[in-house]
Amino acid sequence: MRPLSYSRVDTVEDAVALCREPGTAFLAGGTTQVDLIRAGMNRPDHLIDINDVPLTAVEDLPGGGLRIGALARMNDVARTPAVVERYPAISRALLLGASEQLRNMASMGGNLCQRTRCAYLRDGISPCNKREPGSGCSALEGFNRGHAILGTSEHCIALHPSDVAIALVAFDAVVHTTAQALPIADFFLLPGDTPQLEHPLAQGEMITAIEVPGLPLARHSVYFKFRDRQSYEFALVSVCAALEVRDGAVADVRLALGGVGTKPWRFRRAEEALIGEPANAQAFRRAALLDLEDAVPRAHNAFKVELAARAVVRGLTEAMR
Ligand code: SF4
Repeated sequence: MRPLSYSRVDTVEDAVALCREPGTAFLAGGTTQVDLIRAGMNRPDHLIDINDVPLTAVEDLPGGGLRIGALARMNDVARTPAVVERYPAISRALLLGASEQLRNMASMGGNLCQRTRCAYLRDGISPCNKREPGSGCSALEGFNRGHAILGTSEHCIALHPSDVAIALVAFDAVVHTTAQALPIADFFLLPGDTPQLEHPLAQGEMITAIEVPGLPLARHSVYFKFRDRQSYEFALVSVCAALEVRDGAVADVRLALGGVGTKPWRFRRAEEALIGEPANAQAFRRAALLDLEDAVPRAHNAFKVELAARAVVRGLTEAMR
């Protein structure tokens, strides 16, 4: 048994001061951290419990945006009236993640830091470049039905797991830490040849808040999640869509997909191509295929290309209503 010590702090300053040394780690809701420690994937010597740090508020920003405290719980954020009214896709994505019990504990900051569910990473014995750089990737020739088709490398094809991150990417959220403010698209790293690096956070750098800019378009946003069962399951494909239509043509659009990328995948080519196009299923599908041209399907996940195209059509069609 490995010894593990524990401190509890109630200020950001104390949390950062105690977490400077390698081997220390933050503990928030614990829904990911404790799992990873039990599985031997995270091996901290000292845990800094930050649950008493006052970072749970959801506050208005000038311009109609919201600042979501990093320690706000998923269920609390999902049911905050301002989130439901201004960003229904964020609320829906949160409620479609995990289980009721997990959502009561899991923090927003922890949600963004959760690790991929690749079974080869978590079994502790299979070659895995994320767990042991240079050992190989068992998923490339293994069972890869749930793995990514976009943003992959020959070193890792692991899927990004968060639902709410997909909506946050669609809305250009910003992640605030004790050291920097990062556009959320830059918060998630592509695997490249260093799949063990997932976020640009230094040792002891703590997420303090997520800011979502005011975006009138988001008031009619939707989030759909397609999966093997209807609860407590990760997405095969998910879609966040928001659409403004004027005189039958697309005037503005936001589109991001989950279940397809090694990070939340914004469909920027589709967004650009749709401006001025008729708002109909044929145009939505054509646009989706522009981003899916980059897909690198493997033996068991080629179905995701067609599923993603259909998800885009469904998401944008529902966002019009
Ligand atoms: Fe490891 Fe990534 Fe390969 Fe999974 S996909 S086995 S996490 S290197």
